[in-house]
Amino acid sequence: MNVIVLATRSSGKLRELRALFAAAPRRCRVIDLHEAGVPETAAEDDLEVFDSFEANALAKALYFHARTGMPVVADDSGLCVLALGDRPGVLSKRWSGRADLTGRALDEENNRLLLERLAESGSMDRSAYYVCAAAYVDGAHQIVRRGEVHGRILEAPRGAGGFGYDPYFAPNELDGRSFGEASVEEKQRVSHRARAFRDLLEQLVSIDGGAGGDPASAEVA
Ligand code: IMP
Repeated sequence: MNVIVLATRSSGKLRELRALFAAAPRRCRVIDLHEAGVPETAAEDDLEVFDSFEANALAKALYFHARTGMPVVADDSGLCVLALGDRPGVLSKRWSGRADLTGRALDEENNRLLLERLAESGSMDRSAYYVCAAAYVDGAHQIVRRGEVHGRILEAPRGAGGFGYDPYFAPNELDGRSFGEASVEEKQRVSHRARAFRDLLEQLVSIDGGAGGDPASAEVA
């Protein structure tokens, strides 16, 4: 069975990616960076230098493919708020500028800044959307696919599920409930990451021999 490396250090993303690959049309075994024996380095913080999700996702996948020599998938994702001119966008993870924080503590600072900036904007428009670009790289193929989910930013957090901005984001498809209140299955049904990776996984089916095979091809959509 083919082995694909899930190239992310985010436990929230890993949880979602494992579930998506478990339901994939083409069976393959997935391992994380720890299982692939890839220690974290400072260089990883400098991979997201582009202003598009697609370019950042591909940069991450190329970097980890070079480090592992294995087929990898990576994603770049973020929250775009219309009243803030689509910010934080590709800066979502680092928006608060708190390089000293990780995990929940970093999420809380980013969420605090989100509400502060929305209040400062004076806008009544709380429309927002998540974007995910999913990238696959092996020795012969590069594939990038994009997914989005649209909704609005809530005034107060709801639910403790998900990660990042989830307690404040209510997608249009969940009847006003936030991603923080949704089960993993409910989030997977409509999320930006699920949409991007389902599309990517369908493309992988058509790669002859799956991960690592055949004729050179490059497809970035
Ligand atoms: P990156 O893709 O590692 O650059 O970081 C994406 C950042 O966007 C995360 O750290 C979160 O702040 C935010 N984000 C992306 N996808 C999600 C999601 O599904 N839920 C909540 N926050 C997300």
